[in-house]
Amino acid sequence: MLDPITSSKALERMVTKHGEKGLLRKYYRFRPARFYGGIATADAVGCNLNCAFCWVKEPRLKPWKYGEFYSPGEVASKLEEIARRGRFSKVRVSGAEPTIGREHLVELINVIDKDLLFILETNGMLIGYDESYAREFVGKNVYVRVALKGASSEEFALLTNAKPEFYDYQIKALENLEKYGISYRPALMTFSKNIQGLKERLEKVSPGLSEEIEIEELMLFPHVKKELEKKNIL
Ligand code: SF4
Repeated sequence: MLDPITSSKALERMVTKHGEKGLLRKYYRFRPARFYGGIATADAVGCNLNCAFCWVKEPRLKPWKYGEFYSPGEVASKLEEIARRGRFSKVRVSGAEPTIGREHLVELINVIDKDLLFILETNGMLIGYDESYAREFVGKNVYVRVALKGASSEEFALLTNAKPEFYDYQIKALENLEKYGISYRPALMTFSKNIQGLKERLEKVSPGLSEEIEIEELMLFPHVKKELEKKNIL
């Protein structure tokens, strides 16, 4: 089973490299997207989990094969241009785990137009592992959406192929964001009918947080259906 922290370190070596314009990271696409009422989106490669329901396949599973390296400034310019054309007020990095390559992400948030809200969609592993990551967002126009993979550590392991104990880092990420006063919200992908245990954990992070869970939409692409059937989830 996967150790997401060790795998993040290996992935970082693969999907980032130092250049004259800072730490470059690999992206395979830049596009407008319909979510959040319209958002400029940069799709990166590589993730530290392997979710059975993940809509991204090849660029996530073969990050060495897909994408080109871009500096934070280049990504910011592309996102600003898409946002300007679509009249969007929000930007995000999707398609992968954006927290891999911390120096790149932090610089991207620093250089992008401050009027654009940066929505950080993350599985929270690295923010839960190291609380100083959450501190990087203090004073920034950032909103963090932590996507919880399952309602328990057992479901997390089944869905992500990672060791069950790493589920705690997802909850810890919420705690760290709460501690530093960062704007955040938990999202949840679950096939469980009972999420009471999770709700109790969230209430300990912040009273009322369990009422703010956003239930994620399952996009049943053929490869997703196949993966879920393989695990007897569907
Ligand atoms: S954490 Fe997100 S990008 Fe990574 S495998 Fe899971 S759904 Fe896909």
